[in-house]
Amino acid sequence: MTFHSPAHQAVDPVKLDKLAEVAVKVGLRLERGQELVITSPIAALPLVRLITRHAYIAGAALVSTFYSDEETTLARYRYAPDESFDRATDWLYDGMAKAYGKNAARLAISGDNPMMLAAQDPAKVARANKANSIAYKPALEKISNFDINWNIVSYPNPAWAKQMFPDDPEHVAVEKLANAIFTASRVDVEDPIAAWAEHNANLARRSSWLNAERFSALHFTGPGTDLTVGLADGHEWHGGASTAKNGITCNPNIPTEEVFTTPHALRVEGHVSSTKPLSHQGTLIDNIQVRFEGGRIVEAKATNGEEVLKKVLDTDEGARRLGEVALVPHSSPISASGVLFYNTLFDENASCHIALGQCYSKCFLDGASLSQEQIKAQGGNSSLIHIDWMIGSGEVDIDGVRPDGARVPVMRKGEWA
Ligand code: ZN
Ligand code: ZN
Repeated sequence: MTFHSPAHQAVDPVKLDKLAEVAVKVGLRLERGQELVITSPIAALPLVRLITRHAYIAGAALVSTFYSDEETTLARYRYAPDESFDRATDWLYDGMAKAYGKNAARLAISGDNPMMLAAQDPAKVARANKANSIAYKPALEKISNFDINWNIVSYPNPAWAKQMFPDDPEHVAVEKLANAIFTASRVDVEDPIAAWAEHNANLARRSSWLNAERFSALHFTGPGTDLTVGLADGHEWHGGASTAKNGITCNPNIPTEEVFTTPHALRVEGHVSSTKPLSHQGTLIDNIQVRFEGGRIVEAKATNGEEVLKKVLDTDEGARRLGEVALVPHSSPISASGVLFYNTLFDENASCHIALGQCYSKCFLDGASLSQEQIKAQGGNSSLIHIDWMIGSGEVDIDGVRPDGARVPVMRKGEWA
């Protein structure tokens, strides 16, 4: 526990308070009378306290926080009996699903040490993740179906900062990560709320253009990549703020730079190479190369973490198919920072990406009214996982393919054409 260590003093308290205010007023747009469920690493307690204060000022009826801790997580891997790894806190997730069913908002603080499980048995990690995914499904569905307003923000946890800046003393690493989070989250400006309004307007313009074009596929070309991603029937592009089924317009991800939609689960062909390492549950999966046939990954390699990648692909049938395709210009502030965050929330917003697994039902026209069967019929994928990995760079070109086969430049050398 490092609540009073110099590391936390390296975090600018004024900017941290602005981040908390943005999380409540932009990320969640919390409404008077709403309950709020927070999950957080215990190292992020200073941010939880500020968010809780802003939430009550905004009229929250009740704020409940559930903490995780690296040492106690590792104690399970060291000492728990084997059968522990097929268990999950289903009772807690059932309670969360019940809260979301009663219109509670959801806020997750990310900031865990990305290498926390790196030295643990991959088979146990995979079993624990699978048990957790199954138990979490009823709650996750309410989030991924966008029933309620939700948000993720990050806190510069010292263990994460040391992973990113291993050569710096801890307090310097934390200060660097804190500043990177504040810049990417647009809270280091005079009026963050106004900056977010302008950013949301820009993202809305990009998605409107793509929605008007109604491409049937996107064609990615670049080093090690020649990939055609068919888009789902009736797909809809989203980016920035968007409206949950409870009527609240929120910004689920802070930061966010992407516009994204649903690929067709059966219509992805060709090969693609990752352009940044994927940090997955403590393993760095590097130089991923996969080949798709009929939407399904039929070959997969990686120079590092290949065993973990193959376990991920074997989670279920949908784990080998795509649930998201997203466009991010190479000049995005996160990409321009030039650092790898080892955290998908940041790294996916540095680059165009695709996600294995579950699709977002909101990425369909009238998505809120479609049944699971209709979403499947239109090409939407379903899976216990949703894992984003980066395929964009300054060397990747993207064409939009119209239903008649005509091509329209979408991105050239990583920038909007
Ligand atoms: Zn994405
Ligand atoms: Zn994603």
